[in-house]
Amino acid sequence: MRKIAVLTSGGDAPGMNAAVRAVVRAGIDLGMEVYGVERGFAGLLSDAPFRKMELGSVAGIIHRGGTILRTARAPEFFHKPVQEKAAQRLKEEGIGGLVVIGGDGSFRGAQALEEHGIKTIGVPATIDNDIPGTENTIGFDTAVNTVLDAINRLRDTATSHERIFVVEVMGRNNGYIALMAGLAGGAESIVVPEIEYDLDDICQRLLKGIARKKTHSIILVAEGAASAVEIGRAIEEKLDLETRVTVLGHIQRGGTPTAADRLLASRMGAAAARLLWEERSGLIVGIKGGVLSPVPMMEAFMSGRQFPRQLYDLALILAK
Ligand code: ATP
Repeated sequence: MRKIAVLTSGGDAPGMNAAVRAVVRAGIDLGMEVYGVERGFAGLLSDAPFRKMELGSVAGIIHRGGTILRTARAPEFFHKPVQEKAAQRLKEEGIGGLVVIGGDGSFRGAQALEEHGIKTIGVPATIDNDIPGTENTIGFDTAVNTVLDAINRLRDTATSHERIFVVEVMGRNNGYIALMAGLAGGAESIVVPEIEYDLDDICQRLLKGIARKKTHSIILVAEGAASAVEIGRAIEEKLDLETRVTVLGHIQRGGTPTAADRLLASRMGAAAARLLWEERSGLIVGIKGGVLSPVPMMEAFMSGRQFPRQLYDLALILAK
């Protein structure tokens, strides 16, 4: 393998830059030329030249959120003739391998290119941590810490005003961010798509807390499970207590990546470059028990990850 390319696709995640840096520097170290493709799969279809990446072109980015290669959603990439055109362009440039940094949708795009003769390796980067085949994705730890920071701040106000805060966090299809931030932040209740919520139970927990003179309560809601506004309103109606609702939104996507995300991205990016150098393809770089392990891309498409129910139960016990 002489020439490889790297792109970032789907939603941005903190640590994508650290992963790009690792692909570039490890790739060059292995004697390959590395090219950056801007704006995800859309960049393979435009006339814009690929960016030749040198050691210096990824300097000063390890600590920056977002992605210097920019990212995009390219719906046209669902069509086979478009995929073929993209693969053709890579071949014309003499590029035989591509690292795709993104979520499971992006890996489907990568798989399509593989079917057209381009070797592809996926690096899982999404704040949702929703990719089967890896215990962790790049960006998740930073997002959890961002939510924790918000919980800490909100708890100050919740305590001072003796109010109930209902906080909506990202997680359309899973409740990992809500669960981990809720457990680490001592949330009184956690609402996730994986477990049907019971408003009576949430209210009972609030009342028990008030009975033992608790002056603050935080309820974390994953956006895919319910609307924080509706939960807040329902609690007010049921208990005649004031609630305040905060929807954290896109602030969860940005920010400087945590040490854990930088380490994960550095390891995964370097491993992806090496796998291409070894002429391997159709894999994502997963992590299991702290050890990097390449797994077939197909695994990333399997339905759902096992929700860690024991952690959810623990969070409820500890926040009594
Ligand atoms: P995130 O979950 O963080 O948003 P993602 O990678 O899952 O990341 P998607 O929007 O699902 O994000 O996919 C990103 C891009 O990957 C799409 O815009 C499209 O270009 C490509 N893609 C997604 N699914 C397919 C598919 N089935 N076939 C070909 N390309 C696809």
